Amino acid sequence: MTLQANSTPAPAAARRKRQPVPVAQTTIEDDFWSPKLRLVRQVTLDDVFTKFEKGEAFANFDKVARGERGGFHGHPWFDGLICETMRGAADFLAVEYDAQLDERLDGYIERIAAAQAADPDGYINTYVTLTHPDKRWGANGGSQLYHHEMYNAGCLVEAGVHHYLALGKTNLLALAVRFANYMCDTIGPAPKHNLVPAHSLSEEALIKLYRLFRQQPDLAAQLLPGRDPAQYLELARFWIDNRGNHQGRISFTEYAQDHCCTVDQPEAVGHAVRAVLLYIGLTALGLELDDSGYLAAAHRLWQDVTERKLYITGGVGPIHEYEGFSYGYYLPNTGYLETCAGVGLAFWAGLMGQAFDGAVYADVYERALYNNILPGVSLDGKRYTYQNPLTAKGNIHRWEWHGCPCCPPMLLKALSELGGQIYAYDDEDIYVHQYVGGRSVIPLPAGEVELTQRSSYVWEGRVAITVHTPGARTFGLRLRLPGWSGDFRLRVNGQPPSPVEIEHGYAVIRREWQDGDTIELELAMPVERVAAHPFVNDVRGKVALQRGPLVYCLEGVDNPDEPNPVLPADAQFEAQYDPDLLGGVAVIRGAAQDGRQVVAVPYYAWDNRPAAAESEDWMQVWLGQAGLEKATLTEAGDLTGWENVLYRPLPL
Ligand SMILES: [Zn+2]
Repeated sequence: MTLQANSTPAPAAARRKRQPVPVAQTTIEDDFWSPKLRLVRQVTLDDVFTKFEKGEAFANFDKVARGERGGFHGHPWFDGLICETMRGAADFLAVEYDAQLDERLDGYIERIAAAQAADPDGYINTYVTLTHPDKRWGANGGSQLYHHEMYNAGCLVEAGVHHYLALGKTNLLALAVRFANYMCDTIGPAPKHNLVPAHSLSEEALIKLYRLFRQQPDLAAQLLPGRDPAQYLELARFWIDNRGNHQGRISFTEYAQDHCCTVDQPEAVGHAVRAVLLYIGLTALGLELDDSGYLAAAHRLWQDVTERKLYITGGVGPIHEYEGFSYGYYLPNTGYLETCAGVGLAFWAGLMGQAFDGAVYADVYERALYNNILPGVSLDGKRYTYQNPLTAKGNIHRWEWHGCPCCPPMLLKALSELGGQIYAYDDEDIYVHQYVGGRSVIPLPAGEVELTQRSSYVWEGRVAITVHTPGARTFGLRLRLPGWSGDFRLRVNGQPPSPVEIEHGYAVIRREWQDGDTIELELAMPVERVAAHPFVNDVRGKVALQRGPLVYCLEGVDNPDEPNPVLPADAQFEAQYDPDLLGGVAVIRGAAQDGRQVVAVPYYAWDNRPAAAESEDWMQVWLGQAGLEKATLTEAGDLTGWENVLYRPLPL
């Protein structure tokens, strides 16, 4: 039984063009996810918009529209965060229309439009316009690093594209196009300005804009008269190629991945959110151009991140001071692990899974989703994390709002887009990447296929998928065998299917499917004690409890006597579902070496119950394990079994 058995295949592995299924074509009906998504849509989305309104972030647009100067509220990137929230709202609308939300967005769009109309170029950055109108694009000593001009523009473009795809409306997209055109006219090879985003995001956003117009020439004729949509792809490429080219501008250094050309960057460095968003752009560009150079660079960075710098929770970026990456295997329990970085990693994993063969990408998506993104919001939907460390002693709690509230909008766009990550397809096959119940229409080239998935995930490993097709249809169904699951059972219409090939972490069933055919997959879900690579100093000799994709933690409220239990070498655990605890969770119970009880709950649900006493205000993921230190790092330094692997279950 090998956890994280799905390792990253060599980049030379045959690459098939995989497509994601548009978010609008999946309806999630799932015991675990449906209540959570309903809460996020009904409570969290409103909460985030309302808190931005109260903080006068929307009022910044009104002031620009009225031609005022001064009076800016918030940080320069608040324009972008508002747009990110609108993108999340658009994806929710794509799945289920809501007139009130549509109207609310229209109200916001009007205010952004009025701000843009006040500028002859269509430029929008309320901070620069209200505070330093002479310092646009870093002119006259302006701080490009702080202004976030291209980041905000990218968020506007993303929101415009998603809003159009959800509703067919161009009122937001038209604003994005106007700003994007201004950037295309201003930024690029000489004689244009050599400017690259100091905070990535706009790279992929412009590629999305290009792809939208390439796929919809009528829309391009309407919104882009006399212009070629390829300009957006070229600008994204310029941004990725011109990292490290500091001619005529300051360097943003390794902090913002500006130390050398992106394809030459040997490892993940600097601010983790900026980094993963840049790698998303790099991967999207490689996919769009079918360019092995860009994709090879993405693959190298992916291996660095997932094989040396990834926490067991899917968090990345341990360093507090610059919210960033450190050197390989430096994964302290107090790591920063910003929710935004986990969201970026998850989206990057989705794109890497389109570019390269292997279930490992969907594994990483799942790890980040359940253990680094989901903890980002409280069970009541109104409190948030910024950092997601693996240990806390009264010093870390969710907050109602933050001076830099970047994580709630990022969390919203990750969860609203979940339906788009469940399946993918290529010319011949459908990939089942996530086990989430619901209905999805897969636009295979040979004709649409509807899949209904019923899943007892995440508390049990049973999944049933029924095929709906008007007539017989031949295709391969590729079911991800998660890296954490060593054992599985597969049935088609109640019988063991033949043949089943295991390829790059997928069970592949290729046959002529009939309407009503049902595939049943049962994944073993024992409680595992997981050890980290022996080079990870902070957790050597320790284990984390994991069941299925969920990482568990101990909280003081459940374990009042024992903040640092040591588990016996033969520790036994039981998992039992408790519908009344933390919105319904499987609780893990076992005994420590001294006989005292150990109670663990899913990490995502921690910090949702007040501690009765200061001494109970703690949380811990990694636990002592008797006799383990010797077994993981022998004097001879035996690293057998740890090649390209960061986490493995006991026994090693
Ligand atoms: Zn954040």
